[in-house]
Amino acid sequence: MHPVNPPARLLMGPGPITADPRVLRALSTPLVGQYDPWMTSAMNDTQELYRGVFGTANEATVLVDGTSRAGIEAVLVSLLAPGDRVLVPVFGRFGHLLAEIAGRAGAEVHTIETAWGQVFTPTAIEDAIVRVRPKVLAIVQGDTSTTMNQPLDELGAICERHGVLFYTDATATVGGNPLEVDAWGIDAVSAGLQKCLGGPSGSAPVTVSPRATAVLDERRSVEAGIREPGDDVADEPIRSNYLDLAMILDYWGPRRLNHHTEAASMLYAANECARILLDEGVEQAIARHELAGRAMLQGVQALGLGVFGDVAHKMHNVVAVEIPSDVVGDQVRASMLDDHGIEIGTSFGPLHGKVWRIGTMGYNARKDTVVTTLAALEHALRRAGHAVPHGGGVDAALDLYRDSTVSGAPVGVPA
Ligand SMILES: *Cc1c(COP(=O)(O)O)cnc(C)c1O
Repeated sequence: MHPVNPPARLLMGPGPITADPRVLRALSTPLVGQYDPWMTSAMNDTQELYRGVFGTANEATVLVDGTSRAGIEAVLVSLLAPGDRVLVPVFGRFGHLLAEIAGRAGAEVHTIETAWGQVFTPTAIEDAIVRVRPKVLAIVQGDTSTTMNQPLDELGAICERHGVLFYTDATATVGGNPLEVDAWGIDAVSAGLQKCLGGPSGSAPVTVSPRATAVLDERRSVEAGIREPGDDVADEPIRSNYLDLAMILDYWGPRRLNHHTEAASMLYAANECARILLDEGVEQAIARHELAGRAMLQGVQALGLGVFGDVAHKMHNVVAVEIPSDVVGDQVRASMLDDHGIEIGTSFGPLHGKVWRIGTMGYNARKDTVVTTLAALEHALRRAGHAVPHGGGVDAALDLYRDSTVSGAPVGVPA
């Protein structure tokens, strides 16, 4: 039996990432019961902080207790009744996850697909909406499996035109890439802490527009027995208790109806993640992620490595680096971990064995972490027998930081 004494790793994969020490401290603060007035105000504060994170005035802004997919599932199982049509444009692994979860909720799932490493045009999505006539458009914003960031800014108007609810999974993007929930007309968003928000996984911030809340209200009235379930499939109660967003909103809302026992430690962590982001400023944090992402991109390119996908649509916070043909990808990853204490990511599906995914997000979107990772990668590649230019990656990254006017460090961390 080993004591819980994990090694101090530098987590530079596609998530989870090294948590901000302030978030770890928040996690170790005392538990308070959910009916304690202090907790009530902490919950209200957290809602207000996440309105700032998401760029929304939505009253219905809450945490779902669970990892990011708990947030995805809460939104989909609550908005979609059995038989409802949903359109899922799939451009990576998480698109398939949205389709699977919607299917398990009993929805009639329609997908369109684009090649991995590409994103959809608004026209392709509108054409599919016209053809499918879905109740909900469910689309991932940034899919870490391919590193692509799907532009969402034009989709709200399209959904509005066709009377479609617009949901996005912004787990991988929020806090490190632009996301304007109200300005872009998004009806439901779910996220997680373990990417650009710099926390551990285990809490899923969710926000829901008044238009989507109205759908939940309708379904809630069936559960409350106010209306009898009729022949209309949309009248069916939500097929989950734990992830019933209507109940979760009643629990967070002014009525404070009991639902689950608040996961107090995760609430502290989520609160601290949002506070850290808003202290820095959302725009400044996005600029810092953009800089770290560009430094990592130029660094790996200066090492002579190729990069996968349409780089113009890459998320700021992750890059897919092509594994040179003369090395074994997992051996280099093992050397990064064993010799340098740095974790980088493997890949799934069609990219398995072809690319490593390197993340620069949250607390780890910094100059020193970028440079340390590039130096270690150069070393691990050379040791594996692959010829790389001496110091090229580190110099490319340092030159970029030297010439930048953006602060390269999170608030409270020396640059
Ligand atoms: C990382 C990621 C998740 C993570 O889901 P978990 O349930 O927290 O593992 C979900 N969606 C996207 C788009 C992601 O990139």
